[in-house]
Amino acid sequence: MSELLPNYAAGRWQTAGDAGTPLVDPVLGTELVRVSNTGLDLGEAFSFAREQGGAALRALTYRQRAALLGEVVKVLQAKRDAYYEIATANSGTTKKDSAVDIDGGIFTLGQYARWGDSLGDARVLLDGEPARLGKDPAFQSQHVLAPTRGVALFINAFNFPSWGLWEKAGPALLSGVPVIVKPATATAWLTQRMVADVVEAGILPAGALSVICGSSRGLMDQLQPFDVVSFTGSAETGAVIRSHPAVAERSVRCNIEADSLNSALLLPDAAPGTEAFDLLVAEVVREMTVKSGQKCTAIRRVFVPRAFYEAAADAISAKLRKTTVGNPRNDAVRMGSLVSREQLDAVRAGLAFLREQAEVLHDGGAQPLVDADPAIAACIGPTLLGARDPHAADRVHRFEVFGPASTLMPYDSLDEACALIRRGDGSLVSSVYGTDAQAIADAALALADSHGRVHAISPEVAALNTGHGNVMPMSLHGGPGRAGGGEELGGLRALNFYHRRCAVQASTAALGRLAANGTHPAR
Ligand code: NAP
Repeated sequence: MSELLPNYAAGRWQTAGDAGTPLVDPVLGTELVRVSNTGLDLGEAFSFAREQGGAALRALTYRQRAALLGEVVKVLQAKRDAYYEIATANSGTTKKDSAVDIDGGIFTLGQYARWGDSLGDARVLLDGEPARLGKDPAFQSQHVLAPTRGVALFINAFNFPSWGLWEKAGPALLSGVPVIVKPATATAWLTQRMVADVVEAGILPAGALSVICGSSRGLMDQLQPFDVVSFTGSAETGAVIRSHPAVAERSVRCNIEADSLNSALLLPDAAPGTEAFDLLVAEVVREMTVKSGQKCTAIRRVFVPRAFYEAAADAISAKLRKTTVGNPRNDAVRMGSLVSREQLDAVRAGLAFLREQAEVLHDGGAQPLVDADPAIAACIGPTLLGARDPHAADRVHRFEVFGPASTLMPYDSLDEACALIRRGDGSLVSSVYGTDAQAIADAALALADSHGRVHAISPEVAALNTGHGNVMPMSLHGGPGRAGGGEELGGLRALNFYHRRCAVQASTAALGRLAANGTHPAR
């Protein structure tokens, strides 16, 4: 039997009292390690983090906490090779795809270390300027953001075991809020190892960072009114979190990042043969194949002017045909594995469900694998579907296949295209491709209310743009409606979730003293 990974809770390593759940190499089918939290005293784990970790973090200034984040970055940088090995084994990802998770996570944490330093020795954030409450200016109201005196519980998805931890932990720890992370079971190993390395380095105060692997049972029950929970995963589990008594009755603040039917929109001036057309084609292919399409931001729906439908189908399919799929240890392989055989079954079933309303433009289902046994490996080639009547094909607007799949659709007017995009009921990101700055701005504004991010690409930013699916810490990540309604990142805006806003009404003199402990975060 493989090693049972210990949990780090209440300031010590604790091994569960049962055999645990095996984590499996999705390409080779071999068992790697096991995880479990059976027998763990969750009450003790949460109180220790809340009381010891929280108090120790709040005793520091933003700048001091930012310096700790900087030290954590150095530890993680030094251990990158080990993280890549774990990612190859447990997630079945190519080196390039592992980098999105591992280096993306370290980069994001580094950003919060830098931004945190700019907050200086403050202990509270000031929100706006003092406002007079009457004619006499001697009594005013100042809004402040004070770090919450609770714990931040992260319940994370399987596709980003590194980035999913650090993009949340950066803002939380910088805010002075201790973290308990519960990684998705399938890929918990990388999260557990990173936490182990940080714990071993002795950088953070006791209780500041804990990891609990295995079942989620009982975690939400521990949450108290000043705690927060940040969930990333499916809409179904998101609904369970949202309706838990901790949230529904105790008002625990809750951030939900759920699945989303993201889109790409080709504007009418981006005809086949133009650079903007090629940019869309390249990005759709990239989004379908990076991490085998297991990205919450991946392009699931592609809208093009009706006259360009065939050309777009041909161009995207031609590139997909060149994608080699299989064992990520083989240098010839461009796209690795899905996370598990269960996920492979789910992708196949999802594609069959969509195919009842769509034509197959490129079928990756039967693609031969490189260096991998199709009876064991969770690998599948990319599939492009097409729906010539996007109004009738309701499934493609509401059902997410979490794998290398996307659906191409024609539109007759831009208003119609935006209305079709909105049938996703709120998404993380939409990207727009064209050349005319006014048309791009109009499309971006038309999509802004239903998206957390609009990625608008024209030829002059071809080499500069950061990519449709790449979540940059400077920009908001999250989306309304079906995407979960959450907000993450966006620079120092991310700190808001871990602070409580309070209006302090006091004399101008007292507000002056208060302001001496605070700073206005640069946005
Ligand atoms: P999932 O099945 O919903 O699981 C997410 C997390 O919730 C896991 O840690 C899981 O633990 C835990 N969980 C399951 N049931 C729970 C319950 N009753 N109470 C509390 N926690 C529970 O999602 P997934 O399959 O890991 O991730 C894929 C989905 O996440 C996709 O739909 C994708 O679009 C979405 N996603 C969204 C974002 C975003 O930022 N918006 C990012 C990545 C992924 P176990 O693993 O132990 O079951």
